[in-house]
Amino acid sequence: MPPTENVVATMQAHNLRTWLETEAVKHGTDEQIDAYNRGILPDAELATIARTVLFADISTTLVRWSGSLRHKLRYRVRHTASCSFNKSHNLALIAFEAADAAELELHERENLRNIEAAVRKMSTHPWITRGDGSVAITTTAHWAECTECKGEERAIQCRVVVTWAGRELVREFQL
Ligand SMILES: [Zn+2]
Repeated sequence: MPPTENVVATMQAHNLRTWLETEAVKHGTDEQIDAYNRGILPDAELATIARTVLFADISTTLVRWSGSLRHKLRYRVRHTASCSFNKSHNLALIAFEAADAAELELHERENLRNIEAAVRKMSTHPWITRGDGSVAITTTAHWAECTECKGEERAIQCRVVVTWAGRELVREFQL
């Protein structure tokens, strides 16, 4: 690409980013708008405003994913009667594994469909269609397995990533 085209592309990208940011900050408080205009609004706060707007259609009844959900799986593993876990409660016997989510149960499929519908709507938002944004959904199965009796339990993490104004806005849910 000749240098002049590079400059134009850079300017266009800069203008788009500025437009996206000024549109987003309009959804903030008066104080945040003032802070943005003065150039002192932290990037994380701006990203939070944009995330709140873009993720508005994803049901608020969905449980947000967190690392502690994965940790708590160890307490839900069902052991056989003869498993020594039942006597010693040796938590070190639990092994964790993450894999692509292949099979989903009914309530998980319903939650996934709800998220997919919200993401389709999000994809039509002007910030995405006029910008160079994109939305992606990935699902991961987190397994906890007793290394002795092979009893297991799992939870599905659903990660939604939106690219917006050169940033990645992420929100994670449990299916
Ligand atoms: Zn066990």
